[in-house]
Amino acid sequence: MLSLTGNPSSNGVAVGRVHRLLPDELEVNHYQLPEPQIEAEVRRFHHAIETTEQRLDTLIKHLNNSANAAREFLDTHRLLLNDHELINSTVQRIRKEQCNAEWALARQRDVIAAAFAQIEDPYIRTRIEDVEHVVLMVLQSLQQEEPDFAGRLPKRLTGLIIVAKQVSPAQVAILHDRDAAGLILERGGNYAHTSILARSLSLPSITGVSRALELLHENEEVIVDGHHGAVFVMYEDNLRRYYRTRQAEHDHQLQQLQEQDHQSATTRDGRQVCLMANAERPADIRHALKLGADGVGLMRTEHLLMEAGSSDEGQQYSAYRAAIEAAAGAPITIRTLDAGGDKQLPDYSLSQALASSQCENPAMGLRAIRLCLHKPDVFRVQLRAIMRAAACGPARILLPMVTQASEIRLVRRLMKQCQQELEAEGLRYQHQLPIGAMIEVPAAALAIHCLLPELDFISIGTNDLAQYVLAADRLDPEVGYLHDPLHPGLLNLIKMVIEAAQQANKAVSLCGEIAGDPRYTRVLLGLGLTEFSMHSGSLPEVRQEIARAHAGYSERLMHQHLKSPNMEGIQLVHHLASESDQA
Ligand code: PEP
Ligand code: MG
Repeated sequence: MLSLTGNPSSNGVAVGRVHRLLPDELEVNHYQLPEPQIEAEVRRFHHAIETTEQRLDTLIKHLNNSANAAREFLDTHRLLLNDHELINSTVQRIRKEQCNAEWALARQRDVIAAAFAQIEDPYIRTRIEDVEHVVLMVLQSLQQEEPDFAGRLPKRLTGLIIVAKQVSPAQVAILHDRDAAGLILERGGNYAHTSILARSLSLPSITGVSRALELLHENEEVIVDGHHGAVFVMYEDNLRRYYRTRQAEHDHQLQQLQEQDHQSATTRDGRQVCLMANAERPADIRHALKLGADGVGLMRTEHLLMEAGSSDEGQQYSAYRAAIEAAAGAPITIRTLDAGGDKQLPDYSLSQALASSQCENPAMGLRAIRLCLHKPDVFRVQLRAIMRAAACGPARILLPMVTQASEIRLVRRLMKQCQQELEAEGLRYQHQLPIGAMIEVPAAALAIHCLLPELDFISIGTNDLAQYVLAADRLDPEVGYLHDPLHPGLLNLIKMVIEAAQQANKAVSLCGEIAGDPRYTRVLLGLGLTEFSMHSGSLPEVRQEIARAHAGYSERLMHQHLKSPNMEGIQLVHHLASESDQA
């Protein structure tokens, strides 16, 4: 038996057959060209080489000073673009075989690959990868487009475990729509947006599985244990039986929890807890309400904007209005665009500002509210659309990555201008839209007293707060082990923010992934949290955990623990559970 390990990014178990998505695989067609077109084809090929050189130069220019290893690789790729064996021989082939450039280049790559395969030195043999990368880039330039992800996939993925280097959140949605059974990624971490979406879609997933594409073969059966971050290959029948039983139990348990009456979430000592949902699309909201959510604590708009396909105000208005209508009178918190960092946004005009910002460290660069304030004309379109849609139901507006009070004041000023315009245009809009901030920058948490007077509510974003407090990139599986939600430094900060908001009489919720993880429910209750926002799949389990918990005991224990933290995280979780159960 072979087992591979990675980050357990989305719970659940799946047994299925591997379907590998090779990175940026391009289909290469073959066609003959009439004699008079041959020289034009050679020029097209040279033009593609120039475009690829420019792409490489841009990549090299934007490399961080410390990224010398990457620079060396890219320099090698740059040199390969002048390589006689690759380039001149391809041109000769176009002329001799009178074929298209893509075909000639791909054939030349095969010839070089065959020569490399004969080399004895294993290191030099693997350098064929450089040739492959360069050829792929030139092929992309020739075809002038990125490969079409959806088009490359089979129509149905039922029973298939998708193995890839990396996929985007939008691609996870496509995999789920086509009924994929599970996901194994070489890159990514638990707090990457891709993993968050996989969790909310209940797609068993493991990220950070190194060399998965190399080690797992097409069509072989594997087991994905999303609880423990393990992949099993070539196992005995009894392991398959064990996991099939666990899979059935898990599905049954979820079904039972979902079918239970959704009484209000109350702890054993009578503390009422508000359970809100994190959502990306109107369908998520309807699902969350069916599971008894009290409203939407975080509506991310990146996905909606991508689906709307433009930054047009009318389209945005329709998208937000559809979300508000899906909430059917329940409160909904719409977060303004959180582009940049871990969330790239290919089809939105702000992405141009992002692309031109030459940012060497995107997680700390021009992103989220910073980017929006940098491009107020684009941002105003979103603000106007939200203000107009909010006339249709109880909505709030939430600003991501707020660092200082002046950003909130600037947003208020922009909203005032929008209000005057909407008034003059005679359009309906919400006059009293509550404004809140995500607390996810450590300085904002530490100086929460300076921000609260400017705000109507706050929402603690622990996915980013943890990455900045622990100095561990949420996308990097190598430092995933540092992403410990029970680190006393992080817990103290969360406690401080909750207490400050409660003293100032401002609503405070927590919408990071830990809010939806039942292992941490008692920890958060113990920090005084009374409003949780999570992806809808977690609502039943967290509700059940709240009903079992004793908030008073949890608070006392967390207070003692944070005064002198003497337990490992896992011990703390067990201790909280047993203490509460005895109370
Ligand atoms: C967070 O950072 O905790 C959060 C909820 O926002 P996102 O994951 O979208 O960055
Ligand atoms: Mg965030």
